[in-house]
Amino acid sequence: TPVIGVLALQGDVREHLIALAEADALARPVRRPEELAEVDAIVIPGGESTTMSKLALLFGVMEPLRARVAAGMPVYGTCAGMIMLADKILDGRDDQETVGGIDMVVRRNAFGRQNESFEQGVAFTGLEEGGDVHGVFIRAPWVESVGADVEVLASLRAGTPDEHIVAVRQGNLLATSFHPELTGDHRVHAYFVDMVRAAGSHNR
Ligand code: GLN
Repeated sequence: TPVIGVLALQGDVREHLIALAEADALARPVRRPEELAEVDAIVIPGGESTTMSKLALLFGVMEPLRARVAAGMPVYGTCAGMIMLADKILDGRDDQETVGGIDMVVRRNAFGRQNESFEQGVAFTGLEEGGDVHGVFIRAPWVESVGADVEVLASLRAGTPDEHIVAVRQGNLLATSFHPELTGDHRVHAYFVDMVRAAGSHNR
């Protein structure tokens, strides 16, 4: 059974721990480098990415996270976690750092004030069975552009001029603008647990 951490500096940690357990992983909170060393993979939750960035630097886990990503550790980021996985961000704070790893540009708070929060069905490539994933978007980012090695798994308003990418994968890194951990539908977490099983523990 894969051991999957949830970065527990800030954000909706508890919901991810529950979703991972229901997707048959052993889930535990991770705050310190020693705890990171003991997991096969990690989830970076939703929350506030500027605060999370500051706390990651303060707790000394930013560099260890970058090293594990470089070694191939699977990571799943939701919302603020998606921002943390982006190589480049727009509308971030000047001193805001990311872990990086996904060759994408992510715009923070992209859906704007009036639409700060909304819910919408999302067609998710690889999870066709069971229909659309229920997308909960809370001051969500979108993916502005992706590099050649990034697979787009979901977009809103696909095929229109107003299309926006909201789920991507690059190798062992997965990111969504929305929060499957808040819905009780754990297919996206199960998809991630499968990625972790396939990756094994070699990256530790
Ligand atoms: N707007 C937040 C940020 O910039 C993300 C919101 C969320 O994680 N629900 O970090």
